[in-house]
Amino acid sequence: MRRTVRTLADGREIIYYDEEPSGQPRSTEDTRDLPPVRPGTEIRRDPLTGEWVVLAAHRQTRTYRPPANACPLCPSRPGSATEIPESDYDVVVFENRFPSFAQGVPAVGSTVEGSPLVPSAGGIGRCEVVCFTSDHNRSFGELSPRRVRTVLDVWADRTEALAEVPGVRQVYPFENRGTEIGVTLDHPHGQIYGYPFTTPKTERMLAVARDHRRDTGRAVFGDLLAAERAHGQRVLVSSAHWTAFVPPAARWPVHVLLAPHRQVPDLPALTQAERDDFAEVYLALLGMLDGLYGRPLPYVAGWNQAPVQSEQELSWLHLEVLSVLRAKDKLKYLAGSESGMAVWINDTTPEQMAQRLRAAGDRRTVRDR
Ligand SMILES: [Zn+2]
Repeated sequence: MRRTVRTLADGREIIYYDEEPSGQPRSTEDTRDLPPVRPGTEIRRDPLTGEWVVLAAHRQTRTYRPPANACPLCPSRPGSATEIPESDYDVVVFENRFPSFAQGVPAVGSTVEGSPLVPSAGGIGRCEVVCFTSDHNRSFGELSPRRVRTVLDVWADRTEALAEVPGVRQVYPFENRGTEIGVTLDHPHGQIYGYPFTTPKTERMLAVARDHRRDTGRAVFGDLLAAERAHGQRVLVSSAHWTAFVPPAARWPVHVLLAPHRQVPDLPALTQAERDDFAEVYLALLGMLDGLYGRPLPYVAGWNQAPVQSEQELSWLHLEVLSVLRAKDKLKYLAGSESGMAVWINDTTPEQMAQRLRAAGDRRTVRDR
C-alpha cells in the first residue's frame, strides 16, 4: 500500500492510500477557494454523571444530503471540485471540515462561567473522514475482500497517527450507514474521532474489566467470547481468527460484536494473519444484516479500542455493529426508559435474532450461487 500526504486548499490534511504502489502519483492541487476552518468546539463535564459532553454549535452549517451530482466525497471532475482533488482514488482520508474536535480551537476557562463545579476545555482532538471507495453507489458490504483489508490497514494506520496528535485520548473509527442513522452523505464513508477524553462507555467497560481481572485473573471479554464460542447459539459466523456473535444481553434490535480470538488492545496490534481473514467474516456478517429485512440495513459499526497508551492490558479490541431497525419499516425509538434512565428494552431475544440473522445469511448464500 502506498501512502501520500497532501494538503487541501484550507490547510486540512488529505491522505491517499493506494493499493498499487506503482500507480499514478497523487499530485493534483486543490484549486477551490475555501475559507479557513475555524472550529470552535468546547467540552464540558456533567458534574452529576461525570460524563463529558461536546458543544459543537458550528456544525449546524454542515452539508446536508446534497444531490448525487454534488457529492463532496466523489473524485473531482473538470468543473466540479470536491473534497478529493484527484480524478480517482482507492481509499482516502481527510480532516473533517466540520469537526467535533480539532487542533487550534479557542481556549476556554477551566470551568464553565458561573458554574465552578463544571470543568470545561477546548475540544482539542481530530476528526477525519474515510472514503472506502470512489464508487458513489457501492456499500461497504459490496467491497472486495482486498479493499476491506486495505480499509482495515487504513483504520490501523490512522489509529497510530491520531494517537500522536496532541490532546487525543481515544481513537474511534466508525461507519454510520443509512438515513435512519442520520447520515447526511450517501457516499460510502466512515469517520474517525480522536476524542480528547476516554469515552464514558469505555470507562465503564474498563471498570468492569478491572474488577473481573482482580477476581479471576482473566479478561472479561475473553471469558465471554470463550463461552459464546463453546455454546454457539448466538454465534453468527467465525473464522480462524474472528468470531461474530449477538451479545447475550443485547440492547439493540440488531446488535453484534465481532472480535479477534486473541486479546489485542487496538487495531495496530493485529497480526497480518488476523487482518487477512477479517474481510471474510465481516462481509458474511454484512450480508446477513442486509438479508434480514430484505433491504439495506441502516447500521452503526464502531471499533472499541483501548485508550491511547493506557489500560492496554484491560482492553479487548472489538467491532460493535448495531441497528435501530426493529422491523423492515419500524424504527426503535429511544423512549422514556432508554433516553431517561439508560435502561434498554429489547423487543426480541438475542437467541431469536441470532437465528434470524444466520437464516438471512443462508438465504443470501443460496441466491448468490
Ligand atoms: Zn459520492
